[in-house]
Amino acid sequence: MDIRYDSGICIEDGDSKIILDPSRQSDIGVVTHGHLDHLTKDAYMTVPTLDILKVRKGERRGKGLMYGNPKNINGLEVTLYPAGHVFGSCMVQVEDILYTGDFNPQGGKTCKRAAPYDCETLIIESTYGKPSYRLPHKKMVTDDIIAWTEEQLDEGPVVFGAYTFGKAQETIALLNEIGEVPYVTPGIAELCKVYNRYDQGLKYRLSDGFDDHFTAVVPPKEIKNPIGEIPSKARKMNGSSAYLSGWCAFFPFFNSMDIDAQFPFSDHAGFDELLEFVERCDPSRVLTVHGSDQEFAEIVEKELGIEASPLKG
Ligand SMILES: [Zn+2]
Repeated sequence: MDIRYDSGICIEDGDSKIILDPSRQSDIGVVTHGHLDHLTKDAYMTVPTLDILKVRKGERRGKGLMYGNPKNINGLEVTLYPAGHVFGSCMVQVEDILYTGDFNPQGGKTCKRAAPYDCETLIIESTYGKPSYRLPHKKMVTDDIIAWTEEQLDEGPVVFGAYTFGKAQETIALLNEIGEVPYVTPGIAELCKVYNRYDQGLKYRLSDGFDDHFTAVVPPKEIKNPIGEIPSKARKMNGSSAYLSGWCAFFPFFNSMDIDAQFPFSDHAGFDELLEFVERCDPSRVLTVHGSDQEFAEIVEKELGIEASPLKG
C-alpha cells in the first residue's frame, strides 16, 4: 500500500486509489469534516457533513456515508468513525490504515469522542505535536468558562468569539446548560439549523432588539475592528468579551483581539492526548500531518520506539 501526499492524502494499492481530504474536488475523495480547509464537493463524507457542505458551499454534492458501515470505494474498504472534532467529523479507516483527520479524543457536546483503533499505519493530525502544546482537560476549561460567564453577567452582557462552524455551536450548547439562550449571527444560525435537524437541540436567537441581560456567540473577527453589531451593543452596555480557541493556552490575544478573557477551548487533541492515542492504536508505522509534524514524528520514534515520519517529508 503506497501512501503519499498528492493533492490530499493519496492511498494507492495497484489499480485501487482514494484520496483523503482532497485539496480539490474528487469523486474518489473522502472528506473528514466541514471546516473550510477540508471541505470539497463530490467526495464521500458523513451525511451531516454533506448538509454542512450545502450551507457552506451552496450545493449538497457528494456521497453520504454512515459511521461504522464499511464501504468499498474504488477497490479499497473504507469505514468512518467519529473524530470528536466537530459535528459530523470522522476518522477514516482504509484497510489497515487509520487516518484521524482533525480529531479530539475527548469529543464535544455535539460530537462523539475519537476512540483509538488497532491499525498497521496511523496517519495522525499533529497540530499540537510539541511538548509545549499541552492542553488542560476540557472539563476544567468549560467549568472556567461557565464560572467567568456567571460572574460577568452581573455586570453586563457577555460575548464569545468562536469559529462559525464547530466552536460556535459547542459554545451555544455550553451556554444552554446554564439556561442561557445566546444571540448569534445569521451565519452561525444557519449551521445551527443543520445540527438541530439531527436533534442536537441547540437554543439560540437572532439579534432583533436586545435584552438588558444577554450572552452572545459571534465569529472572532466580529469582536475586533470592524466590530459587529452584537459586540458593539454589548460594549455600550458595559459588557465583556472572550475568545475561545485551543491556541489561547499558548498565546495572549488580549491586545490583538481586544478581549477581556480567553479560554483554551479546543477541538483538537493536545500533545499528551496525541501521544496516548498513538500508543493505544499500537501501529507499526506513524505518519504525521499538519502543524508540528516533524517534531511529533521525532518524539513518537524516541518515546514510543515506533517508526514515524511527516507525510509531506
Ligand atoms: Zn478542522
